[in-house]
Amino acid sequence: MNDFTYYMPTRVFWGEGCLARRGDAISRFGTRALVVTGKTSARVSGAMDDIAGALGRNGISFAVFDEVEANPSIETARRAGAAARSFDADFILAAGGGSPLDAGKAAAVLAGNECADDDLFSGNFSNPVLPVIAIPTTAGTGSEATPYSILTDTVKKTKRNLKSDRLFPVLTFLDPRYTDSLSAEITASTAIDALTHALEGYLSTRATPASDMFALRSMAILGPALAKLSGSAPGREDRQKFLYASFLAGCVIAQTGTTVLHAMGYHLTIFHCVEHGRANGLLLVPYLRHVMSGQPERVREVLGSLGCEGLAGLGRMLGPLMKGDVNLADAEIDEYARIAVQSPSAACTLPRPTTEDICEMYRNAAGLNKIRQDE
Ligand code: NAP
Ligand code: FE
Repeated sequence: MNDFTYYMPTRVFWGEGCLARRGDAISRFGTRALVVTGKTSARVSGAMDDIAGALGRNGISFAVFDEVEANPSIETARRAGAAARSFDADFILAAGGGSPLDAGKAAAVLAGNECADDDLFSGNFSNPVLPVIAIPTTAGTGSEATPYSILTDTVKKTKRNLKSDRLFPVLTFLDPRYTDSLSAEITASTAIDALTHALEGYLSTRATPASDMFALRSMAILGPALAKLSGSAPGREDRQKFLYASFLAGCVIAQTGTTVLHAMGYHLTIFHCVEHGRANGLLLVPYLRHVMSGQPERVREVLGSLGCEGLAGLGRMLGPLMKGDVNLADAEIDEYARIAVQSPSAACTLPRPTTEDICEMYRNAAGLNKIRQDE
């Protein structure tokens, strides 16, 4: 067995009502909190009422920054950081999907560090980073268990990854009830994101025996749960499964990072408005076909864990969860491939893809129907 490390310092509280029961754990982080969230997610999910209750019972005053958009920009994170500074917050409580969680993490850095964009993404900050408490209301990104904040650079028109061990949340409260209000569409897209985290981590050059354990469990839960999802919102039992599997998948990428699949998907999100998880899902079968050429046994294990019969079975499972094909012009494919091949995550893909390999994956992604007939 090769050498490996494992680090995941977040204290996790799991279960319905966990914030009401265990909210006292928050009080050691200070008396002033900035709640960072999106327009609606914290309120419609019921998380905001529980947060206000827990903070109130523990004598913590708070202000709310609720302007985080999907795929948050660096500018939004800067505004949240400024809000934390002007409120003199001791810690950030980020509640919502991955977007508010990631904006909250970056705000924790920016509250005490005035840095230019490139310094921000270097991960080296001279001043302290505020503690972050994460309360997810989607089941997909696993950001509650990762050291990453993914922000959109609106100038460079790309997504950038801020990575620092100081961005692991200090606490997370995982309450599956907060995901009840998710539409069937967002449920599917976020679950596919979790699936790709577990799967890419398992196939990454950085996979470890510990991350594999989390990945296999996550995929074994997600496969059957995803197969049942076709247009209808799941019941509570499946909600629990999605949130738990998403958390496990977060523990995977905290160790391994993602691979070229995420790097390719980002372009579909930024330029074609495809949600993050669905963007990865569109590219998944061609990506696995590429990886299979170098790691056939590992890909077979992935498909076995998911309960899918070959790539065709996976295509059949994903097909109803997609919203239709994304058609890309040749020039777009060339441009996206040129950028994706240079991403650090491409280097963690085995076999390492060439620009032409990536073009090929994009071309095949434009026609899931064709893939299903071919297999
Ligand atoms: P999201 O962008 O946070 O949310 C998508 C939509 O769902 C928003 O409209 C949001 O509303 C709504 N929503 C959230 N929770 C809801 C609930 N319980 N009920 C009803 N609506 C709800 O989606 P996401 O997929 O969770 O996060 C995607 C972001 O995470 C991307 O930027 C991606 O790059 C990043 N990501 C980060 C990591 C990491 O490790 N840090 C890993 C993977 C992906 P609001 O507008 O009110 O928020
Ligand atoms: Fe993701």
